[in-house]
Amino acid sequence: MALDDIRDLIRTIPDYPKPGIMFRDVTTLWANARGFRTAIDRLVQPYAGVRIDKVAGIEARGFVLGGAVAHQLSVGFVPVCKKGKLPWDTIAEHYELEYGTDTIEIHTDAIREGENILIVDDLLATGGTAAGAVNLVRKAGGTVVGCCFIVDLPDLGGKAKLHEMGLSVMTLCE
Ligand code: 5GP
Repeated sequence: MALDDIRDLIRTIPDYPKPGIMFRDVTTLWANARGFRTAIDRLVQPYAGVRIDKVAGIEARGFVLGGAVAHQLSVGFVPVCKKGKLPWDTIAEHYELEYGTDTIEIHTDAIREGENILIVDDLLATGGTAAGAVNLVRKAGGTVVGCCFIVDLPDLGGKAKLHEMGLSVMTLCE
């Protein structure tokens, strides 16, 4: 399946969640067996031969993709959660949104010093969420080996922002 076919399986919903926003809905890609399989295969492709110890997936759509990517790579999975969702001691990171700030957390024992971490989410927009996850992983002592997403919204500058942080970024479509 070509990348154009993956793009075609993603539904666009105008004015969701607010007027003027074109929401890219990846659930239609996930519901398609070949689409989901191909997306996961392509996301892991650049990491063949790279040492990855764990995948960190960002709540909530990054859990679905990150779980599948971790399984494919035969490594562990770390959930990066919105504030207050994790039951044990946490490390937190505040990050910038388009309007305001938000907080994400991981368990204090989720990542060990020196572990190589791959960050996964469904979509890269301004890069604020992913940058927050990168800082959180680094705070925990991990090394981010890359960030991967199904969709990049290039006009919002997320890829450039992550490149400026010295990160390799993999996206499947724009
Ligand atoms: P950023 O922090 O890069 O501006 O926004 C990315 C985050 O917002 C991701 O966690 C992503 O799931 C979510 N997001 C923003 N816009 C969209 C969209 O159009 N579609 C989807 N599926 N997620 C979005």
